Amino acid sequence: MRFADICGHENAITQLKNAVSSGRLGHAYLFHGPQGIGKREVALAFAAYLNCPSNNGADSCGVCRDCETANAGTHHNIFTVWPTIKEKGDDLVKADKPEDGLIRIPQIRELQNLLKHRAGHGKKAVIVEGAERFMPQAANAFLKTLEEPPPDSVIMLIASRPSELLPTMLSRCQRLGFKPLAHDALKSYLIERLEIAPTAASAASRFSAGSIGSALAYLKDGAGEGSIALALRAISVTLKDADGALKIADELAKRDDLIEVLEFFKIWCRDRAVAGAGCPELAVNAEAAGFPAEFRELYGSYEAITEAIYDITPPRYANRLLTMEAMMLRLAGCNAGQVIG
Ligand SMILES: [Zn+2]
Repeated sequence: MRFADICGHENAITQLKNAVSSGRLGHAYLFHGPQGIGKREVALAFAAYLNCPSNNGADSCGVCRDCETANAGTHHNIFTVWPTIKEKGDDLVKADKPEDGLIRIPQIRELQNLLKHRAGHGKKAVIVEGAERFMPQAANAFLKTLEEPPPDSVIMLIASRPSELLPTMLSRCQRLGFKPLAHDALKSYLIERLEIAPTAASAASRFSAGSIGSALAYLKDGAGEGSIALALRAISVTLKDADGALKIADELAKRDDLIEVLEFFKIWCRDRAVAGAGCPELAVNAEAAGFPAEFRELYGSYEAITEAIYDITPPRYANRLLTMEAMMLRLAGCNAGQVIG
């Protein structure tokens, strides 16, 4: 992974490179921002950059032995910690997603042992995914590393919900905020780097609300323009057309990617509120900015969608169709300016 492979995040990358060139590299950073936007990729590219002897100041070379092993995940100076689940016999297995697992004390002990070795050339880089998933004991053990980091090392904590980190951990990190990618930047990246057809790239970018992870999942699942059209219908149907609202509810309930669609609806509300407040340039989806609306109405919609997501996900598992019907009627009311609590 090189900086050149990364979509967006120029500010974060420049800050990190400047810290190195000016000799002010911190010992610990917290990379925070929404899930799936590329925080991990920046951390990996930075770890390779720190260890590539042929880096030209702008980027790692991508072809030397250090870059090769960094890419293969086997570089002796690069350590990653990922939340785990416990299997039979106390074996720890990487969780599929960081939020499904926990960071446990044996992982931290192993890391601390590995960090005893000298870096040689380059720097030791520790990348901790899902930094909000530390078990209490593991967090306490890790605090020691944060308090007295080994020389020639940099620790990068990655979190999408930094408020869930221990304050003692937060206070020892320099914070580096990551924002969702702009629609145009993500769209161009998909077209130019991944050779996605322009229409699909545009739809995926809009749908993903600036998350490259969601955009790729969207493309992989073969979702089409249908989801965008559905979102547009959901924000325009009113109570005068209750039948139409219930039809949309039925379509929504049948979707495998229902949660993603609902998350997209939330971003859409946010974008319209931002546009309504006179800052359309801050919208993730430029199209949504074309439908500015009152904050109060949008807040009603936002709340209805958030509650629906809460109801249909674990541990509640409410009936999807009934939940979507209730949500769509609330949205229809909000669209007509009649907020139903
Ligand atoms: Zn290299």
